[in-house]
Amino acid sequence: MKTLDDTGLHAVTCACAMCEAGYRPTMKQRWAARQALDARKRRLAAEAAAGVAGEARKSAAARAAQSRLSLTEDVRFTDRKLEELRAAERPRDPRTELYLALRAEGKSRSEAESIVDLRCPSEPPEEGITDEES
Ligand SMILES: [Zn+2]
Repeated sequence: MKTLDDTGLHAVTCACAMCEAGYRPTMKQRWAARQALDARKRRLAAEAAAGVAGEARKSAAARAAQSRLSLTEDVRFTDRKLEELRAAERPRDPRTELYLALRAEGKSRSEAESIVDLRCPSEPPEEGITDEES
């Protein structure tokens, strides 16, 4: 009866006709087959590890990209909301508008204030505030 070992060669205990007739694998062939099998196992293990690492890297990159995306969306949403709030809260006072515009242009505080005083001299506040733009 034919018995093979895990390297695919006729096992030491094989009792097939060939082995009985003396065609049993030599110790050198067994050693070579063992080396080849071990090398193949190592290669498969390395490939599996590389595959797992690759998948992990890929999904980490995908997760990072996804979270960057949603972070960007969050930031945009927040910016939009803040801009809306600012627009709603911004006083419709020409002096303040001018001051804010000058500050946005990069003018210093005192510079902006003096320009505002120059262009829009302050008037005594009127009674009865209206929403109308001047
Ligand atoms: Zn055999």
